[in-house]
Amino acid sequence: MSWFIRKEKGINTPTEMKREAPDGLWYQCPSCKKITATREHKLNAYTCPHCNYHEKVGSDVYFELLFDQNKFTELDADLTSGDPLNFVDTKAYPDRIRATQLKTGLKDAVRTGHGKMNDVKIVIACMDFNFIGGSMGSVVGEKIARAINYSLKHKQPFLMISKSGGARMMEAGFSLMQMAKTSARLALLSEAGIPYISLLTDPTTGGVTASYAMLGDFNISEPEALIGFAGPRVIRETIGKDLPKGFQSAEFVLEHGFLDFIVDRKDLKDKLSSLLTMLK
Ligand SMILES: [Zn+2]
Repeated sequence: MSWFIRKEKGINTPTEMKREAPDGLWYQCPSCKKITATREHKLNAYTCPHCNYHEKVGSDVYFELLFDQNKFTELDADLTSGDPLNFVDTKAYPDRIRATQLKTGLKDAVRTGHGKMNDVKIVIACMDFNFIGGSMGSVVGEKIARAINYSLKHKQPFLMISKSGGARMMEAGFSLMQMAKTSARLALLSEAGIPYISLLTDPTTGGVTASYAMLGDFNISEPEALIGFAGPRVIRETIGKDLPKGFQSAEFVLEHGFLDFIVDRKDLKDKLSSLLTMLK
């Protein structure tokens, strides 16, 4: 009956490897695999207290983190996408939009709003990766352009938080036009001398990197965010060489002069406020 007796002594599972805790109470970091109480993780701005891994979060978290008492007025909250190309892949585009709206509770891949951040008036646009990979279609471009208009009209600084796989293929050329539209609006902001800060979060790629995300008076990023235009495989095949270590990480991009600084999410609000105070 040896199978009832533990023959090997001293088999211990370290606490962080034990998985019997109910879902929702604990967070396991995908980077260091250590466990944190969900509550503590939230208080830590969804960063890992052990290795500082920045979990991907949506506009609701950034708005709560940045706007004083989470008070803000959302702009164009009901703008939704049309289907200019009658696009069908595995699903018709309007069906995909509706299904994603139901799943995420979002209308499209960006939310914009204005409020106060440490008592400074500010307009913030924040992308949501959950909505079709944070892809930039007409609604994303239009909402960003209108948020910039609000900044211009009320002379308030503009903060863009990017998180995107690039242009939305279901809108093809209409997506690409958003790059020109948002860039032109940002030029007006620059002419008016109103600060524009672009925060790049994990991941920021494609047409978003190639337009508004890299046009900030300050381009800043969260630690270890993936930042690039084309993916590493395409680049490797094009240049026929292996890519350097850490290629397309925020740290690499900073070292090569494309970013001004990297900011820990826990310090984001205070750093942004002191930066904006300096620019006054
Ligand atoms: Zn971790």
